Amino acid sequence: MIMEKKDRKEFNRRNFLKIVGVGSVTSATTLIGCKPDNRVSVEGGSIGEVPTDRMTYRTNPNTGDVVSLLGYGCMRLPLRQKTDGSGEEVDQETVNELVDYAIEHGVNYFDTAPIYVRGWSEAATGIALKRHPRESFFVATKSSRSNTLESGIAMYHKSMQDLQVDYLDYYLLHSIGSSIEDFHKRFIDNKLLDFLLKEREVGRIRNLGWSFHGIVDVFDYVLAMDVQWDFCQIQLNYQDWKYATGRNVNAEYLYGELVKRNVPAIIMEPLLGGRLARVPQQALNMMNEIHLEDSAAKWAFRYAGTPEHVLTVLSGMVYMEHLQENIRTYSPLEPLNEQEYETLEQVTEILVNSDYIQCTECQYCMPCPYGLDIPGVFAHYNRCVSAGKMLKSSNDENYKNARRDFLVGYDRSIPKLRQADHCIECNECLSRCPQQIRIPEEMSRVDQYAEQLKQRLEF
Ligand code: SF4
Ligand code: SF4
Repeated sequence: MIMEKKDRKEFNRRNFLKIVGVGSVTSATTLIGCKPDNRVSVEGGSIGEVPTDRMTYRTNPNTGDVVSLLGYGCMRLPLRQKTDGSGEEVDQETVNELVDYAIEHGVNYFDTAPIYVRGWSEAATGIALKRHPRESFFVATKSSRSNTLESGIAMYHKSMQDLQVDYLDYYLLHSIGSSIEDFHKRFIDNKLLDFLLKEREVGRIRNLGWSFHGIVDVFDYVLAMDVQWDFCQIQLNYQDWKYATGRNVNAEYLYGELVKRNVPAIIMEPLLGGRLARVPQQALNMMNEIHLEDSAAKWAFRYAGTPEHVLTVLSGMVYMEHLQENIRTYSPLEPLNEQEYETLEQVTEILVNSDYIQCTECQYCMPCPYGLDIPGVFAHYNRCVSAGKMLKSSNDENYKNARRDFLVGYDRSIPKLRQADHCIECNECLSRCPQQIRIPEEMSRVDQYAEQLKQRLEF
């Protein structure tokens, strides 16, 4: 018999709650006092204290590491112009300030990679962390884009050198998933995995795992290998739970498989590249009916942190306000209840039926050889979708304001030479996008829309 829609929803909700273990969340939460030290206003968020000692922690069953539920993702760091005008550099003082604040407020997991922030992330993260006792943080980094044993080993040693550490707490085979052949080429045939397993044996790698973006066959294959994986990093958020797009697999499946094998999950993309922090007004209204003051980002972080096998949830926090709000959300975590989960199901229906370009702003497609700011163009477009400012026709009531907002915002956020009209459809970026976005086609779509507005054409 075909399940009615309502019954199906009920089943989905029960199933989710069963899988994630709501009601029996095994967090080691310290609840001794609270030092209010700041009150901030965050876009869409509530004003409130930022506790120093209420962070929710999860215990890694393999090593006993007690890890903060909020993990600091160093894939984005604050940048500034160099004083000699020769380009950008990491704003190290601000990085130090953010890292100090995070540690002071209970965050102890920092995730970086050799390729992050144009190759500057590890060194900047290392400088900031070096100012803290080694035992006060866990640092994670990755083996990215190497195909030979020599280049893989060189990358590993350079990571330790840049991070200024003599052991790594978490080491990942980075972004596996495009094909089993590719996985073999990068890690098995060249014996790089053998090398890394020996490094784990001697304690220079404390936890060995991998991050996944790709096809399910690779996930199943790697998980079933005769290797003890200490953790696995997956994309999990309320849209991807059942509606993963591009080269991603539904998080419901990925998480379920990790639970079966008792492999802790590290979560990336809890906000789906920021999109879940900027949901359409209709969706925000639904959330506000339950929690008037909570931001959409808080909902998304609570969702990602609720499943009990989640060790930590990564967030790339460039602004102090975001760090503060995320600390507040997990100090301590309030796991989602059934009513909240049902609301997020309804929000998901709105999101999957809207006009978004499914870009997570991961930057993997960059640099574009023709200078386009690919994630920036898509982010501007998506911001206008979120704000309900996309015009369906030139006869729309709000035509004048929406036209101005799109065009002015476009020029303000993206330099003219980096806008969609400069895409020559060379397809260089196509294979690099884990969301499998048809980038040149989407560029053309954004450009046509902008041109219609500029020329005041009817549509
Ligand atoms: S297809 Fe367009 S956006 Fe992609 S690399 Fe080529 S010019 Fe850049
Ligand atoms: S277009 Fe694809 S690769 Fe580029 S930033 Fe967006 S999701 Fe990442």
